This record gives sequence, structure tokens and C-alpha cells, in this order.
Amino acid sequence: MSVKGKEEWRKWLKFSCTACGNCCRGTIVLITAADVRRLMEGTGRPAKEFVKFFSNVEMPKRDSLWINLGKRRVAMGLRWETKPKRCMFLDNETNMCTVYESRPVTCRTHPFDLTTNDNWGVTKLGISDIVECPHEWDGDHTLRDIKKAERWNCDQVGEFEEQVKAWNRKRSGKRTADEFLKFCGLA
Ligand code: SF4
Ligand code: SF4
Repeated sequence: MSVKGKEEWRKWLKFSCTACGNCCRGTIVLITAADVRRLMEGTGRPAKEFVKFFSNVEMPKRDSLWINLGKRRVAMGLRWETKPKRCMFLDNETNMCTVYESRPVTCRTHPFDLTTNDNWGVTKLGISDIVECPHEWDGDHTLRDIKKAERWNCDQVGEFEEQVKAWNRKRSGKRTADEFLKFCGLA
């Protein structure tokens, strides 16, 4: 196989978003405590105004981001508007993100799907197929920037997994959503 053939995935560096808004409408956006903190600072709003705990998320049963709230098992995400269904921070008229500078890290890595080796060498790049993505091909992304966002995401998720683990192990106190936010220093 030629080098060009082996690295055919490089074509995705030319990906460009057409701002259709599909990815802010089609999926629940899971967030970490660091995302919440950044959004609180950026919007001046308390966490409970934009955080929601979802039990209907497609996530493996043993995923370390499941939070135990009494008898419920939930994942932390951004609240939704229902008419029409979308992330509460999406402007439905312009399709623009109203918290762009403070948006969750997962929104920054989307829609790239990066595969790396143990040393963060890229072995493959693609894009998510979680929603229909009517993109163009006139983008100018660099692997450096895509990796930087992905590493940020991994670090942030790793830190949050430790917080969730500590919460799930806790044997005393109330197990409510408010208490979880307090436990994470978000309320
Ligand atoms: S925070 Fe912004 S980018 Fe992320 S899903 Fe919501 S509207 Fe879209
Ligand atoms: S679905 Fe694709 S083109 Fe549409 S906003 Fe998301 S990334 Fe951009």
C-alpha cells in the first residue's frame, strides 16, 4: 500500500463545518466538572441552570462516568430545550453556539474521531457519524490542534472519572444531584 493510501485519513484535515447545527440537536452532550466550572465562569449562571442528569444515555453499563444517585444511575450533561429539541445553548435561528468561548471540551473535539498510539502518534482520523454532518472540504485543520483538543478532553475526563469514583464510593450523606454538584465544588 502506498504512503498516500495508508494515510488516506489525512483528507479529514480539509473538513469544514457548515454550521448546520445537527450535532447540537441530535445528541445529549455529556460534560465534566471542569466544563461546568468554565460555563459557570463564562455565563455567570449557576450550574443547576444548565446541568441535567440523564439516565437514558447510551453508555456501557460499566462506564466510569455513571454517577450513582440513590437508586438511579445517571450521567451529567447539558440541559435541553424541547421545542425544538436542542442543546439549551444553541441559538435556533442562527445555529450558533451562544457559549462558544466556554463550550465543553467535547464540543471542541467534535466531530473528529482520532485514533492514536500510546505516544499520541496519530494512526487514524475520521469524523463521527452520530448525526448527519453535511460538511464541506475547504477546511485547514492541523493534527497538532486536533491532538491538543483530544488530550485536553482525555485529561479532563480522567480527572472527572476520579471525582465520580470518589462520589460513588462515599457511604455517608444524601445522594442527590444537588449534593453531587456540591461534592464537585459546583454549588
Ligand atoms: S455547548 Fe454549544 S457547541 Fe456544544 S452542543 Fe451546545 S450549542 Fe452546540
Ligand atoms: S453536523 Fe457537521 S456540519 Fe453540522 S454543525 Fe455539526 S460538525 Fe458542523
